[in-house]
Amino acid sequence: MASHDVFVVHYHEIALKGGNRPIFEKRLAENIRRSLQGLGAGRVRRAYGRIVVELGEGADAEGIEEALRKIFGIQYFAPAKKCLQDLEEIKQAALAEASRHDSASFRIQTKRSNKAFGHTSLEVNRMVGAAVQKGTGKKVVLKDPELTVFIEVVDRDAYVYSKRVQGPGGLPTGVSGRALALISGGIDSPVAAYMMMKRGLKLTFLHFHSFPITSRASVEKVREIVKVLSEYQGPSELYTIPLGDIQKRIWTRTPGGLRMVLYRRMMLRLGERVAEQVGAKALITGESLGQVASQTLENLVAIEKAAAMPVFRPLIGQDKEEIIQKARDIGTYDISVLPHEDCCTLFVPKHPETRADPVYVEKVEEALEVGDLIEMGLDAMEKERL
Ligand code: ATP
Ligand code: MG
Repeated sequence: MASHDVFVVHYHEIALKGGNRPIFEKRLAENIRRSLQGLGAGRVRRAYGRIVVELGEGADAEGIEEALRKIFGIQYFAPAKKCLQDLEEIKQAALAEASRHDSASFRIQTKRSNKAFGHTSLEVNRMVGAAVQKGTGKKVVLKDPELTVFIEVVDRDAYVYSKRVQGPGGLPTGVSGRALALISGGIDSPVAAYMMMKRGLKLTFLHFHSFPITSRASVEKVREIVKVLSEYQGPSELYTIPLGDIQKRIWTRTPGGLRMVLYRRMMLRLGERVAEQVGAKALITGESLGQVASQTLENLVAIEKAAAMPVFRPLIGQDKEEIIQKARDIGTYDISVLPHEDCCTLFVPKHPETRADPVYVEKVEEALEVGDLIEMGLDAMEKERL
């Protein structure tokens, strides 16, 4: 007999959402079902502020655990033994659970969501604790024991477990709608995307490259990065647009110092058009205040004016060190640091403007035929699913 036959999944923030709660729970359950496909999980059902995942015959418990770690909305989960609401059966399960660990001390921690169960949580703690102590010789320690055996008494069943695994927290993918993430091959934009994904947004990705002027390395990197991010949100669409010809026109028709700001403004304009196509309501970038010349307050303001759609910059107040740590945690860092030619380092000015004046920027852009550039970009756009 397998030691665990379910995963008990707990969420946190969702429980606070009042009237929205059923929508959040339903979405979370759906997301769990989808991401566990092919791993042999059985039923996934909602039960009193939890979700219970049954392990089917021959289920890949390790694979399921790996997947649950990446599902937004999950605060923690536990591989557990499912019991009848019968004290003797619960005692046996707790004894078996405690016997698996060579700890010297333990405690029982019961949570009773079904008040129809004939014993209070304290009574269960006491009676099951006595049985485990007798059966294992372990000592009961209430403060900081080496092992805690949890018992949850829910609708029809009781669950017994001793290991809680952290989930990523946040809100279930999709409950907040859709946004478009501008993703480069760098460190920052994948972290920005992750942070907004964690708030329940489903993301579509857009990358600008300079192939055939440069190699396709940046596209390859972005593909790998989007694959990592897809482990959290499910299959994702990546749009790619060649920026080389657009950059060339900017380069030949406008003064050098403004180039970076003008490239970014084109990125936002094109981003907005793609967002409209895919039903996204906001753009996301990895900009962080003051990090590079194009990210001074003045330049950010001058860039933002190119788009009417809101631009979310979750990293705006983060230090590079914090961002790097986050990139490592998410699993994108090692890909991001591989060398590639950034489309924007291709035609960088020697002395980039750090205080672009929006009025001047607009005047300079008159020479660009922006509408035509947008059509050029969209015509050459490609799309793939990862
Ligand atoms: P990153 O590490 O994300 O590249 P960065 O600190 O290098 O960020 P910039 O290169 O100035 O900053 O880019 C600022 C933001 O503009 C990026 O975080 C990203 O959202 C967007 N961006 C920059 N280059 C590209 C690109 N080639 N394709 C799509 N988006 C881009
Ligand atoms: Mg960059």
